[in-house]
Amino acid sequence: MLDKIDHLGVAVKSIDQALEFYRDVLGVEPTGMEEVPSQKVKVCFLPVGESNIELLEPTSEDSAIAKHIEKRGEGIAHLAFKVDDIEEALATLKAKGVRLINETPQPGAHGAKIAFIHPKASNGILIELCERNE
Ligand code: ZN
Repeated sequence: MLDKIDHLGVAVKSIDQALEFYRDVLGVEPTGMEEVPSQKVKVCFLPVGESNIELLEPTSEDSAIAKHIEKRGEGIAHLAFKVDDIEEALATLKAKGVRLINETPQPGAHGAKIAFIHPKASNGILIELCERNE
């Protein structure tokens, strides 16, 4: 079902400020900034090998990322796996009784389809499934 680790989502208060470390110190070139209204965040992808770091900056106080920062501070917010067919993956998980945050795919950054699995199902890690058409 899982292809590879697509990205690691990192909650930050400011993408511009975070880039002073990820871009200027580590030398990772961002591949573009995008707003994702469905998740109330601005995202910036930083490719590292086959995977990416996804910086997530909240655009609204009631976004899940804003709540994450308020409760736990900045840091790793989720782990995202690439899947070939997200509808099929969700159907398989549902059939196995896995608790999901999104029962149907949501629009993600760069035209991806995404859905989150509840962290109670996965030992405390918020897992994102991500289908990209590229
Ligand atoms: Zn993500």
